Amino acid sequence: MGNEYQCKYCMKKFARERTLSSHMCEKKRRFMSIDEPSSRIAFQVWYDFMKYVAPQTKKERTTDDFIRSPDYIGFIKFANYIIQLRPTETNKFIKWLFKHSVKLSNWSKRETYSLYIQESSKLETVERAVERMVLLMKSWSEETGHSWEEYFQEVPTVTAVNSIVMGRISPWIIYSSKSAQDLLDRMEPGQLETITRSIDTEWWTKKIQKSPTEVQWCNQILN
Ligand SMILES: [Zn+2]
Repeated sequence: MGNEYQCKYCMKKFARERTLSSHMCEKKRRFMSIDEPSSRIAFQVWYDFMKYVAPQTKKERTTDDFIRSPDYIGFIKFANYIIQLRPTETNKFIKWLFKHSVKLSNWSKRETYSLYIQESSKLETVERAVERMVLLMKSWSEETGHSWEEYFQEVPTVTAVNSIVMGRISPWIIYSSKSAQDLLDRMEPGQLETITRSIDTEWWTKKIQKSPTEVQWCNQILN
């Protein structure tokens, strides 16, 4: 009797059906975990990416193509990173990675997200920055029971540093609001250093100097 049962993932042959069904290989494992959240996100991002790099291709890409892709592990790694990072606008971040031809091996690096935050903050108007700030203050108020106007005086500095690094607080606020200055005054030198690393300070210093009307407006709302 020959080896009649073949694994369609690794092509290995088996004499018995039972041996085949209990057999496990890397690609079969990938196939069996395709419905897990990380696999689903990874597949969607990979699918969009393939479409982005080759928009003309007629061929419909399947999960099977994904499982066999040499980039499978890279996309799974990125999906896990996204699940952990929880960016405010995941799709915007992903489109940015595509557009700037960032190498897949750099997608899950802290520096990459930080650069994205730096660049996208420069494109935002002061109105949108203040609007997002007010929403952040209100949700902080709901979580803590403080009045939202007390944010800059009461929020733990660790929380604030994280919000700045994650781009939830725009440099517009940090540089033009007097209340934000109170917050910075409460921070440790190491925390200030972390913030400086996540903001293009030179660019923002010039921008703030050129925008007195915006600075005044921002202060009226947040003070
Ligand atoms: Zn196999």
